[in-house]
Amino acid sequence: SEKETGRDKDKPDVSFKDVAGLEEIKEELQETIDFINNSYKYRRMGAKIPKGILFYGPPGTGKTLLAKAVAGETNSTFLYASGSEFVEKYVGVGAKRVRTLFEKAKKEAPSIIFIDEIDAIGTKRNLESNNEKDQTLNQLLVEMDGFNTNETVIVIGATNRIDLLDEALLRPGRFDRHIFVGNPNVRAREQILEVHTKNKPLDKSIDIQDIAKKTHGLSGAQLANIANEAAIITVRNNKNFIGIEEFNAAIERVLAGLEVKNPTVL
Ligand code: ATP
Repeated sequence: SEKETGRDKDKPDVSFKDVAGLEEIKEELQETIDFINNSYKYRRMGAKIPKGILFYGPPGTGKTLLAKAVAGETNSTFLYASGSEFVEKYVGVGAKRVRTLFEKAKKEAPSIIFIDEIDAIGTKRNLESNNEKDQTLNQLLVEMDGFNTNETVIVIGATNRIDLLDEALLRPGRFDRHIFVGNPNVRAREQILEVHTKNKPLDKSIDIQDIAKKTHGLSGAQLANIANEAAIITVRNNKNFIGIEEFNAAIERVLAGLEVKNPTVL
């Protein structure tokens, strides 16, 4: 569909509508969206636009999705990086990659740089050594301190382990906004299931609220997975509509940690 619409691949077609639950977080991010969309207003006031937001919390709760949605809501360039991919065997490679990433972000501003697993580069530095990871982290700090006020570049980091991060990263002017993204409650699970069954043919007997109640403790990613598994099982059962039987089987499968990567082997 990127080709059909002529969309830039770095401009995600994701909006807040695609992010279910997490209403308070979306509310909080409205401010950031306004900074990006109306940056001149803030600059005229002499206000500095906050540069760094840290999403922390368990896996699969929608951190990446939220970051993409911020880009989508502001028509910003979205640049994805994973902390683990920066750190290479050769000293200096990670730092160079960080530099290149920020150059691209500035060139294509307004941009959102999303750094997943930021703990891979962001753990506490070892003062004695200057290893590859620490050089990479130092470069990230330099870049975050360095960009000037005419470029709207916002860096969103994500981690499951905020406790491991070097305090220098969390300081004002860097990742100074910390947003906890947790597992969804029953209402949010219902909304997530609604989003992920929206374009699936459901049997009349399906009660999404009931499925939400049965999936306590599951993440958004696991719920998305359940909806997809239920659809796959329905195909296998030769039915036209996804029924409760298929949902129950899907829940069981996901709970059992049976990740079916390749549906054709079913
Ligand atoms: P990780 O920490 O493992 O990187 P994450 O928190 O970044 O995980 P995402 O990659 O955003 O999680 O979520 C994975 C997928 O789960 C999403 O692409 C989406 O399909 C689904 N998902 C997760 N949370 C939500 C949500 N709140 N609303 C709708 N879909 C969701």
